[in-house]
Amino acid sequence: MKTADLKKIRKSMEKELDAKRYEHTLGVAYTAAALAMCNDVDPVKAETAGLLHDCAKCFSDDKKISVCRKNNMEINSVESRNPYLLHAKAGYCIAKNKFDIEDQDILNAILNHTTGRPGMSTLEKIIYIADYIEPSRKQAPNLSEVRKLAFQNLDQALLKILTDILSYLESGGGEIDPLTKETYDYYADLLAKC
Ligand code: FE
Ligand code: FE
Repeated sequence: MKTADLKKIRKSMEKELDAKRYEHTLGVAYTAAALAMCNDVDPVKAETAGLLHDCAKCFSDDKKISVCRKNNMEINSVESRNPYLLHAKAGYCIAKNKFDIEDQDILNAILNHTTGRPGMSTLEKIIYIADYIEPSRKQAPNLSEVRKLAFQNLDQALLKILTDILSYLESGGGEIDPLTKETYDYYADLLAKC
């Protein structure tokens, strides 16, 4: 990963995304780089994944679906009812094919940033968490607590975010992707053993 690549990616994102989403994207990239420094992860990799994590977010639903179909990505029933969820899978395909990202850890961080997954790598956790805590986010519950926790313990921050997301979805905020619940169960179990 060279620094020149980051500049190119940043420029493309500025063109591709709307202003609010671009600001969010920069926030995720910087926050991810800072979290990477705390956790012995390459900050350039983290910044790259942060810049690209929502690269398909501004596609139309039809385009998200067609990119996934073309690349043989499975579309589950929750995703077909809520196509916005597919921006992670479509983003993975675009990062790989259009931006020539070969690093599987970066690709996985993009792919899993909406639901998480059991057994996430450190980089995947960093992107998931940075997406939730970046400076332009204002609405999440317990945000200042989660922000502080993120720089102390990634797993605890992850579990807190998953807990808050599930309680929001369960109280009528939206449909729960089974993978979000699986991820919660995995980390709740893991941390209970510590
Ligand atoms: Fe996203
Ligand atoms: Fe995002």
